[in-house]
Amino acid sequence: MLRNDVLGKEATLYTRLPSGRLRCTACARFCEIPEGKVGLCGIRGVVDSKLRLFVYGKVIAGHIDPIEKKPVTHYRPGSSIFSIATTGCNWLCKYCQNYDISQRRKIEGTEMTPEQVVDTAVNYGADGIAYTYNEPSIFIEFARDCGIEAHKKGIFNIFVSNGYDTIESVNMMKDFLDCITIDFKGSGKQEFVRQFIGIPNADPIFQTLKNIRDKTTIHTEVTDLIVPEVGDDLDAARKLCRFIYDELGPDTPIHFLRFHPDYKMMEFSNTPIETLEKHHSIAKEIGLKYAYVGNVPGHALEHTYCPECKNIVIERYGFSIGSWNLDANNCCNRCGYPIPIIGKPNKIHKNRFQIV
Ligand code: SF4
Ligand SMILES: [Zn+2]
Repeated sequence: MLRNDVLGKEATLYTRLPSGRLRCTACARFCEIPEGKVGLCGIRGVVDSKLRLFVYGKVIAGHIDPIEKKPVTHYRPGSSIFSIATTGCNWLCKYCQNYDISQRRKIEGTEMTPEQVVDTAVNYGADGIAYTYNEPSIFIEFARDCGIEAHKKGIFNIFVSNGYDTIESVNMMKDFLDCITIDFKGSGKQEFVRQFIGIPNADPIFQTLKNIRDKTTIHTEVTDLIVPEVGDDLDAARKLCRFIYDELGPDTPIHFLRFHPDYKMMEFSNTPIETLEKHHSIAKEIGLKYAYVGNVPGHALEHTYCPECKNIVIERYGFSIGSWNLDANNCCNRCGYPIPIIGKPNKIHKNRFQIV
């Protein structure tokens, strides 16, 4: 029996089936949930014939991060971000670094109204709010209410999403979302996502990217977590890069992220640097202009290079920006090539920019 203090709020994204069951439409699981039960994420469930978001207003984690940590590199670089999460997730990743939050099925967290979330972001001097650490589409009604308040205060909104979304959740994103980074794992290869994530295939992620392209103006970046041996297939990476090039365009940033062992995959090792470099080469061969290697501080492929003259236009170390070689219109200082980056940093962290 659910207590009143964990009832949260009635969700918006659901439909009623002829059988009387409710179908949640917040993510591509499309759980059909009977009375008194919860969906796979554990935070949306049916009470008194209504689908409720139990974690509405319950923030389990809140941190200030640089936007580069999401990772996002072509939207408001150098911004300070207030990152929040709830419990629960629609994926069951065996390597999840946030498993304590994402796989927790207990409804808990610090009570915060959307106004309090935004006030906290303002008080910390944040430029944006990121809905991250667990999958934000599962608590999208709360994120939307925070996001609408954030816009009133001049603060932008980012989703760090696995992309296992629906047309209904993408339509709701239009109300408040400015930027999204869609995180592939193992390049979305079917065998990998079945075994290590617990989803049948990655088709809904590709569809989400098309829906965001067709229905919204949200700035989009893509990441791909490369897991050694089981999630580093080069053909799958080629397919993903080809999709991004054909469907989203060559200016779309892609980040190949290094895997670190965690949770149920402690016996695995870190992704070899050469593997990440091979994936990066595939992206460049296909024609993606802005490919990055992530989670390898000090690597030369953290920087942004001018596609025309090969000048380093933005020099990075980890999450810090070390030099900014773009003019007032974000064109290359050397040759004038326009680099598709929205905004520019307020400050350059030269003091934190030490390559060792
Ligand atoms: S958000 Fe949760 S309840 Fe809704 S479809 Fe996804 S896993 Fe199921
Ligand atoms: Zn140039």
